[in-house]
Amino acid sequence: ESVQATPFFSTVLQRVKHSFELEDKHLELSIREDFEMVVDPVRVEQIVVNLLDNARKYSPIHSITRLDVYVQDGHTVIRIEDEGIGIHTRDHEVIFEKLIRVEKSRSREYGGAGLGLAIVKELVDAHGGRIEVISDIGKGSIFTVIL
Ligand code: ATP
Ligand code: MG
Repeated sequence: ESVQATPFFSTVLQRVKHSFELEDKHLELSIREDFEMVVDPVRVEQIVVNLLDNARKYSPIHSITRLDVYVQDGHTVIRIEDEGIGIHTRDHEVIFEKLIRVEKSRSREYGGAGLGLAIVKELVDAHGGRIEVISDIGKGSIFTVIL
């Protein structure tokens, strides 16, 4: 299905922005140039909503989460950068497995089943895409989805 990027991501953003505002956290969208994506919009929305849910949940009050969308070498790139607690490099692979929640203290503090990223990974795979993470403890996180 052919989807126009700007209206699509603006709508997704509107849907989740309220949950950020309730917690006094900021969410910003940047699309350098509008473009058409040939994607399954339902899947892409689920991917973005799950990643934004994590960005909000694992970030402090007043922090900024940035959603950047652009085309690179003919691929749609969705980049979500947060200023949150970060993820230890040794956990970068395991977080995509089902029911995995890294660090015990963190699991007590933040609720969740440990399913979000496993679902994201399946949806990205179903799209023939890939997902990359750049993060470390205390340094925030960047999740990049290339479709
Ligand atoms: P659920 O998504 O099912 O509500 P969850 O958020 O714990 O629960 P995942 O979304 O799969 O599960 O994430 C797995 C783990 O990876 C989290 O428990 C958390 O420790 C870590 N994590 C994921 N995203 C981030 C992020 N943006 N910043 C810091 N840690 C993260
Ligand atoms: Mg989650």
